[in-house]
Amino acid sequence: MKFSTLALSDEMVSNLDKIGYEKMTPVQAETLPLILEGKDVIAQAKTGSGKTAAFGIGLLSKLQVKKFRVQALVLCPTRELADQVAKELRVIAKFAHNIKILTLCGGAAFGPQLGSLRHGAHIIVGTPGRILKHLNKETLSLENLETLVLDEADRMLDMGFIEEIDKVLEYAPKTRQTLLFSATYTNEITFISNRIQNDAVSVKTVSTEVKNSIQERFYETKNKVDSLIKIFSTFKPENIIVFTNMKVVAKEIAEKLAQNKIDALAIHGDLEQYERNDVLVQFANKSCPVLIATDVAARGLDIKELSMVVNYDLPHTEETYTHRIGRTGRAGAEGIAITLYDEYEIENAMEYKDEFRIFEGSEALKKQNNFEMKPQNVTLVIEGGKKDKLRAGDLLGALTGENGLKGSSIGKIDIYDRQAYVAIQREFIDEAHKKLSNGRIKNKKFSVWVL
Ligand code: AMP
Repeated sequence: MKFSTLALSDEMVSNLDKIGYEKMTPVQAETLPLILEGKDVIAQAKTGSGKTAAFGIGLLSKLQVKKFRVQALVLCPTRELADQVAKELRVIAKFAHNIKILTLCGGAAFGPQLGSLRHGAHIIVGTPGRILKHLNKETLSLENLETLVLDEADRMLDMGFIEEIDKVLEYAPKTRQTLLFSATYTNEITFISNRIQNDAVSVKTVSTEVKNSIQERFYETKNKVDSLIKIFSTFKPENIIVFTNMKVVAKEIAEKLAQNKIDALAIHGDLEQYERNDVLVQFANKSCPVLIATDVAARGLDIKELSMVVNYDLPHTEETYTHRIGRTGRAGAEGIAITLYDEYEIENAMEYKDEFRIFEGSEALKKQNNFEMKPQNVTLVIEGGKKDKLRAGDLLGALTGENGLKGSSIGKIDIYDRQAYVAIQREFIDEAHKKLSNGRIKNKKFSVWVL
């Protein structure tokens, strides 16, 4: 179904067309008519289903741009998700001028947030704890709030944010539209919906999507690392997240894979924020094909076009399983979800048997001679960012200008407050490094190093 069938402004429809959203995804088709009518909606939707645009189009449609007050608040479990949501909202918000969207997340400095808040905003996206802190300090007011969104509500409950959410709600007007999105549908979710929503209409679309686009395979194995390598060699996925239940194991697997010429990085709760960022950037910009993660560490992480998800051990619950594998097979592309289990996990693994899932012995997997996995790109770090007014165009200019690199050898560019990351095709990394460290960017010298 096309967006033009909805009660949307011409500007909104033409902008959606411009950004390449031709048809509605199932979640959008089911929720948007209700959202646009002003109803409270509770929707079961995983990341990749187009849920952000569903609530984004809804809240932006009723925004009064001239009224410079916070009219919508999106609560997210993590900073990564909040950044992702804000990014997508900004793209959709291009149908009008001057819509101000601000992220307020824990883990970031408080001071600059105060400054941004003083300048005002229409939409706030953030994590519950930090939002509450601003409300308590009266640096943020929800007096004019029209729409409240709880994104990945199940994750927020898992992470123990319920108290903060309740307190945030005390600051919000009673008459408002409340939208709740969650990958799983538990009693707890129904309970919170009943408490904070008004006659909510419930929409479930996730199960059919998952069955259609993800190939689910299970392997019994005595040597998980060995099987993992064979899996990569057999299916040749481009980018993979391997989930482990324990963070110590995550590090260990990454090391063992590296010994086998497979480039892998681990992300776990023990990393400092900057280390975590380095890893996430490298994985997302194709400087590392394999990411090993615990569930906690992977929360909110939104990497597009993941070709494979591996459960290194059996997830503790079927909900975790669904959530993990939902990261592959997005937007219609076929994904592969592999689960490994050993003799101690057989009994639990058998509970996953159904007509769609394939169970095989690990002997079905083969390792090609000299198999290795190297990344397509290498990441350069530039010690300068938004605070230095650096933009992607400046870096592109510095790299490609005067006998420089071809644009096609440059990948994703991520610019943070004080650092920028540029993905460069591996064979051009030395040239790019030299070009940036010897030359000037915006007439200034910056330190540059290879990550
Ligand atoms: P989400 O589930 O919000 O994480 O969205 C997944 C991805 O789908 C995002 O990259 C969106 O930009 C994209 N997307 C959302 N809606 C549409 C649409 N109607 N058509 C094409 N792509 C879309």
